Amino acid sequence: MSVLLEVRNLETWYGPIAAMQGVNLEVKKGQMVTVLGANGAGKTTLLNTLAGVIDPFKGQVCFEGAEVNGLDADEVCRRGLILVPEGRQIYPFLSVRENLNMGAYTRKDAEGVRRDIARVFEWFPRLLERENQHAGLLSGGEQQMLAIGRAFMGQPKLLMLDEPSLGLSPLLTKEIFTIISRIRKETQTAVLVVEQNAAIALAHADDGYIMELGRIVAADTCEALSQKTDVREAYLGGHNHQGLSGTSQRWKRRKTWR
Ligand code: ATP
Repeated sequence: MSVLLEVRNLETWYGPIAAMQGVNLEVKKGQMVTVLGANGAGKTTLLNTLAGVIDPFKGQVCFEGAEVNGLDADEVCRRGLILVPEGRQIYPFLSVRENLNMGAYTRKDAEGVRRDIARVFEWFPRLLERENQHAGLLSGGEQQMLAIGRAFMGQPKLLMLDEPSLGLSPLLTKEIFTIISRIRKETQTAVLVVEQNAAIALAHADDGYIMELGRIVAADTCEALSQKTDVREAYLGGHNHQGLSGTSQRWKRRKTWR
């Protein structure tokens, strides 16, 4: 498999705060890769930097062999690196169908857009039932489905998902991940998903990285990571909440399931 995304020594700061340092990462064509980490580990910073929303201080992002760091977010998106942001960020006062059309705003092929909307509705029949409803009235799970569908409308080569499980029940999380895997399989779209829910992400992805305090502290196949004692203890329901590097981690509480 050839390399689609190659990240080298990436570093991002917020004013005087280094949120991410020395990050190296690779996604091959058609692959699903996950980055796991606790609250505040730097996962959103990583995706926002890759998507061109934040400029890195240092390092390189190569996509299909060309450097994309420093490009505007809309140009990165046009090249097929498309982000499903944390918290979905759908347009609440537009209908479900209008939101999907917004995802296709760079496209000129009306027929292709219609075909892809039909595909999204096939993956997410609940969106079809609500196609003319304001997106703000959808449940949290349905909004996540819409955010994924909207990103697909931009014809991603790499779909980047920022914590798709956030705020969702275990059942809905499972459903969302099953559909993400289906989209990947049916369209050969590569996926980069950052998650706090390690169990579900390791079960679906090929390779995994673990991020703590802005640095990658482990990288391996998901199968190998799932078998490592320290990963199991820190990320798969063990009692070690100090992470692999022994640093104190704050875990996000999910009090609300929708
Ligand atoms: P979460 O799961 O809570 O989204 P995360 O792993 O995505 O966490 P980031 O949101 O990338 O982590 O945050 C990484 C670090 O950067 C944290 O210490 C955070 O407080 C800090 N940070 C994030 N955004 C900003 C900002 N706009 N200004 C200053 N510091 C920030």
